[in-house]
Amino acid sequence: MDFRFSPEEDAFRTEVQEFLRAELKPGWDEQFDTETELGSMEQGDFAKQFNRKLAARNWLALPWPKQYGGLGATVMQQVIYNEEMAFTGAPTGFNMGVAWVGPSLMIYGTPEQKEFFLPRITNLEHIWCTLYSEPAAGSDLASLQTRAVRDGDEWVLNGQKIWTSGAHRSNWGWLAARTDTEAPKHKGISMFLVPMDSPGISIRPLINMAGQHGFNEVFFEDVRIPANYLVGQENQGWYQLAVALDFERSSIAGSARARRIVVELVKFAGENRGYVEAKPEIRHRLAEIAVEIDIAKFLSYRVASLQQAGKIPNYEATIAKLYSSELGQRLSRTGIELLGLHGQLHPKSKHAKLRGLMERYYQMSVAETIAGGTSEVMRSVVSIRGLGLPRG
Ligand SMILES: Cc1cc2nc3c(=O)[nH]c(=O)nc-3n(C[C@H](O)[C@H](O)[C@H](O)COP(=O)(O)OP(=O)(O)OC[C@H]3O[C@@H](n4cnc5c(N)ncnc54)[C@H](O)[C@@H]3O)c2cc1C
Repeated sequence: MDFRFSPEEDAFRTEVQEFLRAELKPGWDEQFDTETELGSMEQGDFAKQFNRKLAARNWLALPWPKQYGGLGATVMQQVIYNEEMAFTGAPTGFNMGVAWVGPSLMIYGTPEQKEFFLPRITNLEHIWCTLYSEPAAGSDLASLQTRAVRDGDEWVLNGQKIWTSGAHRSNWGWLAARTDTEAPKHKGISMFLVPMDSPGISIRPLINMAGQHGFNEVFFEDVRIPANYLVGQENQGWYQLAVALDFERSSIAGSARARRIVVELVKFAGENRGYVEAKPEIRHRLAEIAVEIDIAKFLSYRVASLQQAGKIPNYEATIAKLYSSELGQRLSRTGIELLGLHGQLHPKSKHAKLRGLMERYYQMSVAETIAGGTSEVMRSVVSIRGLGLPRG
């Protein structure tokens, strides 16, 4: 692969950095609520205004065609953008509409679906959640039981989803449901677009171990949606879903966020030498992590460079997701150890160091090796698709 950025890409990075310098004035993040995810769109008016500014620049879905609110940018421009946003911790949130609903609609949607939904994703009118996991279907997602039954011009939905991130702040849901109970399990699933205010949908909050309301349970009781909210071919949803999951795993934001935390830890260690003198091994750990962050970055660049060349990344994206999520956990442990007992203090404590950053990051990093596929499942994918080992 070619590690150099083109002059246009360098110029784009400078433009993004200048925008961020102008918009994120010192102290911009101090108003945020610790009960919502760090840097999430949910964190108040500032985040909403910031995202509207991104939308006005057509930056929310950079590679999309201009007619749908993108800029027709290259994959590498998207990488640069994600890196800079994650490095500054900008409150972009994770926009599922941009990440996989839109890209899936571009492949499988009807012309009417593209025309209606894509511009509303990029202007933030529609905020999406993803309705895949169920109490008895996570890693083995093809076992999902939520039913969609055709009734005239409508589909009727019944069942339960779980771990639905942002369901409470979304107006649309991207749903996988069973449409054929007789077929083998992978061949009876279809994808649907669901208005979240439909009668019969109820949402119950789930509070995570960091005390934040990020995900929910979602219940469907005789929910009726129009027949044309089916996406692609009936019973072919599993294959669409597999493509959508691959959109999720390039992971460049993970290494950029980790790099930012290392910068903060190194600055802290330089200004508070006693912490490092008490634990000299921390120097080596930080150095090791700095090397690992570069590895994670290059694994993500590899995924991007495959996409740029028009290829579909497969186990390469899985490796990047696996490595970067586990690196986040190694880094959070190292940061907590450097800060000692102070590291465990919540941002609201007056004795917290680094604004309580490590306590938040540590608790949140636990979920990273579960969300979007667990590390065990990622290792299985790498062993089968990457190494060619037989299925276990
Ligand atoms: C922060 C976060 C956000 C999420 N957001 C969403 C969302 O928006 N929408 C959504 O639909 N889901 C979401 N999820 C759910 C997520 O996709 C599932 O948690 C994940 O796929 C694992 O499924 P599970 O929780 O049912 O665990 P299980 O599949 O029950 O796994 C339990 C344990 O068994 C292991 N295991 C399972 N199968 C195998 C196997 N074949 N080989 C080896 N080990 C195995 C797993 O690795 C894990 O350690 C989110 C999860 C998290 C943590």
